[in-house]
Amino acid sequence: MEKGSKIERIAVYPGSFDPVTLGHMDIIQRAAKQYDRLIVAVLNNLSKKPLFSVEERAQLLRQATADMPNVEVDVFRDLLVNYVDQKKAQVVVRGVRSVTDFEYELQIATTNRKLNENVETIFMMTNPLYSYLSSSVVKEIAQFDGDVSELVTPEVQAALKAKLHGK
Ligand code: ADP
Repeated sequence: MEKGSKIERIAVYPGSFDPVTLGHMDIIQRAAKQYDRLIVAVLNNLSKKPLFSVEERAQLLRQATADMPNVEVDVFRDLLVNYVDQKKAQVVVRGVRSVTDFEYELQIATTNRKLNENVETIFMMTNPLYSYLSSSVVKEIAQFDGDVSELVTPEVQAALKAKLHGK
């Protein structure tokens, strides 16, 4: 590399985001400050049965990040390390809420390192405000028409109502 040339620091934040919560948004906001570009990558995971389609999930993320100039939203179905390479990114960002999250994340990060040692996984600790929050919790509350206004954006709230109650 030439002296003085600057590499763009690009991070990928992968996940299911079914749907995006304020816990995810907190990680996105904080990660976006650390990198030149942050790619939020929605996993098209065929083994999970999501509530929202991958395009709906990406669209909700695009609305939620519309005012963040260095954040983009994409969809991927490849092996994560290959996707990261393809995007010329160097870092994978993951959020950690609990010891249970940590054990699972450690396993994935170690596997990814074996597959491609150039890809670094960076963990960000959850904001304590959202340590209990998951997409599953949001879906469960919304299913029974409970109030999720403090857990998700207004657009996600509306999308949940439409999807679950046809409103
Ligand atoms: P996945 O199916 O890949 O776990 P999720 O959409 O559930 O996808 O989560 C994506 C990432 O966001 C994971 O790293 C997860 O630990 C993190 N995350 C989820 N909820 C929160 C939260 N409330 N606070 C911080 N990080 C979170």
